[in-house]
Amino acid sequence: MKLIDRDRRVIWHPYTQMKTARSPIPIVRGEGARLYDESGNEYIDAISSWWVNIHGHAHPYIAQKVADQLHKLEHVIFAGFTHEPAVELAERLVKVLPSNQSKVFYSDNGSTAVEVGIKMALQYWYNRGIKKRKIIALSNSYHGDTFGAMSVSVRDLFTEPFRDLLFEVIRIPTPTKGNEEASISGLSRALSTQDVAAFIFEPLLQGAGGMIVYDAEPLDKMLATCSKQEIPTIADEVFTGFGRTGRFFASDFLENKPDIICMSKGLTGGTMALGATSCTEYIYNGFLSDDKRKSFFHGHSYTGNPVACAAALASLDLMEEDDTWKNIARIILRHKQFASRLIKHPRAENVRQIGTIVAFDAIGDEDTGYLNSLRDRMNDFCINHRIIVRPLGNVMYLIPPYCITDHELDKVYTTLISMLDSL
Ligand SMILES: *Cc1c(COP(=O)(O)O)cnc(C)c1O
Repeated sequence: MKLIDRDRRVIWHPYTQMKTARSPIPIVRGEGARLYDESGNEYIDAISSWWVNIHGHAHPYIAQKVADQLHKLEHVIFAGFTHEPAVELAERLVKVLPSNQSKVFYSDNGSTAVEVGIKMALQYWYNRGIKKRKIIALSNSYHGDTFGAMSVSVRDLFTEPFRDLLFEVIRIPTPTKGNEEASISGLSRALSTQDVAAFIFEPLLQGAGGMIVYDAEPLDKMLATCSKQEIPTIADEVFTGFGRTGRFFASDFLENKPDIICMSKGLTGGTMALGATSCTEYIYNGFLSDDKRKSFFHGHSYTGNPVACAAALASLDLMEEDDTWKNIARIILRHKQFASRLIKHPRAENVRQIGTIVAFDAIGDEDTGYLNSLRDRMNDFCINHRIIVRPLGNVMYLIPPYCITDHELDKVYTTLISMLDSL
């Protein structure tokens, strides 16, 4: 039986209407920015396999380090025990994170990294005996698919079936161009009137909400306000971390640093599932007590998995190489040139770029929105041209692995322009 037929019998895919979806493409191997299917077709992965891959597929250096670790220690319970890869990874993360970050808490993925961040902030107040329960979040935010992460995310199509079960948050506008004042004053108003426990945001780039880009300046002001009132801030860097925005973290563009930072996606170079949430000494100290009830009661079976940590360490090694940063700079420059071509195209609107991400709204003749047919038309066009994309409604974007070659980028850009021509 063919793989896609076996798949259909037993697999339920994410974000997929299984009744109507086209058959998934069976991928057998990857190399650099390329993926190969069963029939030997070659695809350029222009979205880093759901935004996680940063150094390319099946990277030999990461593969070797993972294999070495597997032969030494595959896993050990992380409560009451520790190991070299977890300790070294935390040491190295603390070195590259904003200087106020001092402790690392491990979990499994982006959503759990966010859950940990939210729970840290809430229990921080609880441990002090102060009733602060409300969280401020931005419009169009996306923080993951578990219940806490959904609660702080925008209420939309994805969260609708669970709406009545999500906890309430204080929603303020994202400080995009023209909305800076509304956002800043919204935050101040929320802080002055309600029992705010924390402010959570995706710094400078809201991913799943539509690749929405905003400046550091208004966010900096908002962080300063929170800091003055000693309200913990949570930067969800799950998507923006590890060079995506042109710096190591998007928070590096800010003068005022967040208290809690959530990481995943690029953390292991896109090799394995791993989440990490870092925090300041100040937050951490809020849990130190002779009273065991003030412990942070959170953990997962695979917390701090040594193999995942080894993958992350290997990825960090690669992040330290000049070539990686040269590649990032090269992609930024190439994206800029592509953006200037897009701006002139009558079927592209709101062209935006931050770091290695370039995005635009495509204008077809149909409605916009996540479920529109334009999305499928764009997707099919690119797949037929062997380019892997994943439009968010009519929002088309590119997030390539840093190792993508100029030649591959050219092919992606040319395909997107012909796609727009075809609309
Ligand atoms: C993808 C994403 C998440 C969720 O990460 P998962 O690993 O998919 O659970 C959280 N926050 C942001 C900003 C993301 O882009």
